Amino acid sequence: MYFIGEEASWNGFSYFNSKFGVYFEGHNKGTVAHETMHAMNLPHTFDGKSSSALYTYEVYKTNNLLDYSHHIGIERHCLFLWQWKILNPKIR
Ligand SMILES: [Zn+2]
Repeated sequence: MYFIGEEASWNGFSYFNSKFGVYFEGHNKGTVAHETMHAMNLPHTFDGKSSSALYTYEVYKTNNLLDYSHHIGIERHCLFLWQWKILNPKIR
């Protein structure tokens, strides 16, 4: 995890199947969870093109950690069961 104390266009980023996350000024615990789950190969809830997305939702419509709903003031704090089933075997 790399924490950079400067403003950026994003609060953080990571890549699928990676072992790092980069966090900028303005990140919060939701950002850390979001980017960590991307590194564990979990896509956005609205990214229907990803091979690991079993379902697709409208952006800003859930309180899921992989949505962007925090942009409209909805706190992200949950996962769907299908997401947990993807993540759980990877947690050691
Ligand atoms: Zn993301």
